[in-house]
Amino acid sequence: MLAAMPKPPRLLASAVSRWGDDPWARGSWSLIGRHGTPADRIALGAPAGDRLRIAGEATHPTRAGMTHGAYEQGVGAAVWAAGLGHRRVLVAGAGMAGLAAARELAARGVRAQVWEARDRIGGRTAGIDLDGFTFDLGANWLQQYDDNVLARIAEELGLTVVDTDFTDPLVLGSGRDGVPDGLERALRTRLAQAPPQASVADVLAAWLADPAPFTAGAIRRFVDAEIVMDSGAPLTWLSARHGFEPGVGEGDRWIVGGYRLLVEHLAAGLQVRRARPVRSVRVDADGVTVNDAARFDAVIVTVPLPVLAAGGIAFEPALPAAHRAALGRLGAGRVEKVVLRFDARFWPEHPAGYYRVHGPAPTDVSEWLDATAADGVPTLVGLFAGAWLDGLWTGSDAEVARRAAAIFTEAAAAG
Ligand SMILES: Cc1cc2nc3c(=O)[nH]c(=O)nc-3n(C[C@H](O)[C@H](O)[C@H](O)COP(=O)(O)OP(=O)(O)OC[C@H]3O[C@@H](n4cnc5c(N)ncnc54)[C@H](O)[C@@H]3O)c2cc1C
Repeated sequence: MLAAMPKPPRLLASAVSRWGDDPWARGSWSLIGRHGTPADRIALGAPAGDRLRIAGEATHPTRAGMTHGAYEQGVGAAVWAAGLGHRRVLVAGAGMAGLAAARELAARGVRAQVWEARDRIGGRTAGIDLDGFTFDLGANWLQQYDDNVLARIAEELGLTVVDTDFTDPLVLGSGRDGVPDGLERALRTRLAQAPPQASVADVLAAWLADPAPFTAGAIRRFVDAEIVMDSGAPLTWLSARHGFEPGVGEGDRWIVGGYRLLVEHLAAGLQVRRARPVRSVRVDADGVTVNDAARFDAVIVTVPLPVLAAGGIAFEPALPAAHRAALGRLGAGRVEKVVLRFDARFWPEHPAGYYRVHGPAPTDVSEWLDATAADGVPTLVGLFAGAWLDGLWTGSDAEVARRAAAIFTEAAAAG
């Protein structure tokens, strides 16, 4: 009798992010380029006069690129505007920073209006509904959980959160050898001791020329896992000294049901106009004119850094020189997500519920969250970074999802 062939896994449903192409994001999160330092984040978030302030994740000196950093910056900008006695304030953008700013303004008795370019709120937190269950295509985790203002709000709301240990993923397919002792310390030392304007690629090139006692392969894989995955940026651009910022791996918990649960709570009662992009901000002695039409006392701008850098909002007068310089030295990388729901769970169990798959070329890396336990359907949430995005993220969402599924399936089959 013939042995029954194992059935190949069947993809039931999928969703794909497009942060790199999204005109209202133009990337995933802000980063410090080789010519920049954390002082650029502070410069960008400093008031531009008495009536204009940029907030948002990119302005946080120590919690950039994260939702709670964005939230804190929104609150800070609102306290500033209210403290100056402004009574009518426009907030550009309804992401974490914008919603936080508007809530804080309202709490202080200031009339706040939020103008949001998209027809949805939440910004780079974005839920996708698959068969009645919401998965996050943007932010997933509450990072630095013990010291995270949004985690406290999630607790007040009674949301269910699940721990993820990023430090112990199961590596599938090639590149499975563990991280040699001392490699992480050696990387951190080399980055910290790099010349001020060196890029990560500069440091890596020097190291790979003389990798002992490590192997070149182990160094590359570690850099891909730690830096490429956490930034999605070209290593030739990313600052060696400042490109590896805190956040991931400091206690991370994801929200079952998605960030939407937090966003909806934060937006309750606020005046948010959707599909209303801010195109121009003109500041004069008496107030601010937005889009040549509406007048406010002050404006808090929370749109993503690359949108500002690309001239998405015309400022008159131009932003101060320090702000413009900061915009030139900061940037954003590209990390994309895919959610895959299968008819059966074909991958090995791992206590961390977290997997890594390296791609064929340097910088090709993906990480995978097993979300099956949350609603009982075998589901993976994959994050992709590196040069292979150019080839993988083309064509329809279904094509991208099929390619991503094939990568994971082959790696899982290889063990
Ligand atoms: C794939 C991915 C995974 C991530 N994972 C995590 C994670 O696990 N944990 C974490 O803490 N963070 C994570 N982040 C980062 C996190 O999502 C962001 O740091 C945070 O949401 C940024 O909030 P923000 O308010 O600064 O900006 P945004 O959320 O981008 O909000 C800005 C808003 O401005 C709007 N806008 C843009 N242009 C205009 C305009 N001209 N006029 C009006 N509105 C405009 C946008 O539509 C958007 O709604 C992730 C991001 C991505 C992309």
